[in-house]
This record gives sequence, C-alpha cells and structure tokens, in this order.
Amino acid sequence: MRDHSRRSLTPLPDSKPPIIPLSTHCWHGPSWQQLLREAPLSLPELARRLKLDPAQLAGDATTARQFTLRVPAPYLARIEPGNPDDPLLRQVLPVAEELLARPGFTSDPLDEAHHSPLPGVLHKYRSRLLIVTTGACAVHCRYCFRRHFPYQAHQQGRAGQQAVLEYLAHHPEISEVILSGGDPLSLSDTVLERWIEQLARLPQLLRLRLHSRLPVVIPQRITAELLDILTGSRLTTVMVLHSNHPNEIDGDVVSAAQRMRAAGITLLNQSVLLRGVNDDAGTLAELSEKLFVAGILPYYLHLLDPVAGAAHFAVPEPEARQIHQSLLARVSGYLAPRLVVEVPGERSKRPLGS
Ligand SMILES: *Cc1c(COP(=O)(O)O)cnc(C)c1O
Ligand code: SF4
Repeated sequence: MRDHSRRSLTPLPDSKPPIIPLSTHCWHGPSWQQLLREAPLSLPELARRLKLDPAQLAGDATTARQFTLRVPAPYLARIEPGNPDDPLLRQVLPVAEELLARPGFTSDPLDEAHHSPLPGVLHKYRSRLLIVTTGACAVHCRYCFRRHFPYQAHQQGRAGQQAVLEYLAHHPEISEVILSGGDPLSLSDTVLERWIEQLARLPQLLRLRLHSRLPVVIPQRITAELLDILTGSRLTTVMVLHSNHPNEIDGDVVSAAQRMRAAGITLLNQSVLLRGVNDDAGTLAELSEKLFVAGILPYYLHLLDPVAGAAHFAVPEPEARQIHQSLLARVSGYLAPRLVVEVPGERSKRPLGS
C-alpha cells in the first residue's frame, strides 16, 4: 500500500489540493435547457450515436411513438458504444416487448386516480402531499409507472396552484410537500420559485421535497441560481434522486451532488429493481458505494410497479428479497436501501423485510 501521509504533511509546492474547489465548477457546454430540448431522438439517430447497427439495436418504432424515446446527451455519453445490452440503454430503449399485454399489468397500477383530491395532487400518505407539477421529463424510462398518467387532465396553471394551497391550508396534518411529476426540475426557475415562495408561507410545512432524475441525467441543471431558489426559503430541502445503476454516476453527477450538499440540501436516492439492469447484489452494492461518494444516501429500492408495457423489467418478489438479502450482507447498513413495494390503499410504502 502506498503511504500518502508524508505527502500531506509536506506538500510539494506544486501539489494540487486534494478536494476540487466546488465554487470554481464551470460548465462550458450547452445549457441545461438546450440539453432538455435535444433529448428526443429517433431510433436511427440513437443507433448512429451509439455506433450500433440499427438491426442490432432492436428498437421498436411503434412503442417509440407511444412513449417517445428521450435520452439527454449527458446520459447518452455514459452508455457504452457498440453494446446493445448496456444497462443504461435498456432503461431508455423502446422495444416491442412493451406491446405484450400481461395479466396484472395495468395503466394505473397504483390507483392514483382514486387518491387525487385535486388535479395534479396525490394525497395517499397522511403527512405528505405529492404535487405532479409537470408531465415533462428529461428522459423517458421505459419502466415508468406514470407512463400512462393523464398529465393533460392534471395540468395546473396559477389557479390550480391556488387550489393546492387552499387544500393544504385545510389539511394541517401535512408537514411536507413533494414536488414530483414528470420531473419538477424540468420546470423553469421562475415556476419553481413561485411554488416554493407560496408553499413557504404555510406555517404547517417543515420540508420541501423534490423527486427528480434530472441531477443524474442532466447534472448541468444544478446551477447556482437553482440552488439559491431551492435553499432560499425557510423550508428544509430534501432531494430524492433516481438512479438505478453505478454507470449513471459520473464526475458531473458527483459534482452536481456535492454542490447541492454544500448548499445544505439532504440527498437521497431511490432505485427501481429492474431485470437486466440492476438485478444483482454486486451492481446494487457498487451503486450504493458511488452514491455515498457523491454524498447521496440510498433510500428506497422499489419493486417494479406493474404498469402496462414494463412487464419485461419485473423481478419476482422472492427473487427481489434474495437480492436484497445479499446486498445487506455486502454493504454498511446505511448503504442498503429499504426494499419496498407500493400497495394501493396502504398508508405507507410496504417494506419487504427479510
Ligand atoms: C411515495 C409517495 C410519497 C412519499 O413516500 P415516503 O415513504 O415518505 O417517501 C408520498 N406521496 C405519494 C403519493 C407517493 O407515491
Ligand atoms: S424520470 Fe421519473 S417520471 Fe420521468 S419517465 Fe423516468 S421514472 Fe418516469
């Protein structure tokens, strides 16, 4: 083993500081807005960028029309060129298997239609209210449980926002609001700021939570302006990221996470257990270790919600429990996410203990 101690005691005059100074982080490429705009791709274009024969790619044009193929450039860059089985590619590639009807796989697996007191609002769990702020996402994950969500019927303008605030005022038991979607960070800073300002006026609220995949798929979204908005109110901010595979965490993601942490945001991660992506304890352990380096703690490992079109991603519950068991045997306790399943009608996510 190399001895690093001497070097730190007597640093050479030209030695680099061990920590990358966060404040000097600068991004010179396209803006996050441009990366978001350019996320929709055609199948031939995807094949070209990944140096794959279109025949090798096994993409399906019909499903690509039903739920558009969207993959932003920073995420695309982490897919291994020439590998049709890449675990990141599998999450975004429209395939013909999505057309197979399977018993139990439905368009509203979580019965969200029955837990929506107002358009764009889900109130399932007593103390937290989830707001579907937008239907837009940077990436389209083929296993998404909201892939059939009627976003049109749940659109909110300013009037909708007012109705949400009134609902909250009538439900003092709610102490945390979750901005979700779609992806709340695909909203402009102006819209986010308006939400946060309004919410912060309700004295009952302690925390603001965001559920977002953007810090992973377009880490450039985490600008200094956004951090000011997210931390500029009296609410404590929690960001729950969504990452499923260690290859999703590159230097830019780590840097974005470090900036959020430095701004005082608590960072958690949720993953979905996906066949052919992360259905083994080794991959999940590696993901946890990488998340920790970025200052993110693993929170939930979800069993796939049985949404129509995603059956080929399903890992049966007994196998999921086994994978989780061996993950527990590999990592520090705080690096093991809780294995959970959402059961419609229950008052919290259901833990699948051992
Ligand atoms: C998952 C979920 C939440 C958050 O649940 P936690 O267990 O607090 O993470 C809140 N509301 C809805 C509708 C949800 O689906
Ligand atoms: S980012 Fe989230 S909401 Fe959007 S498609 Fe992926 S899983 Fe669904």
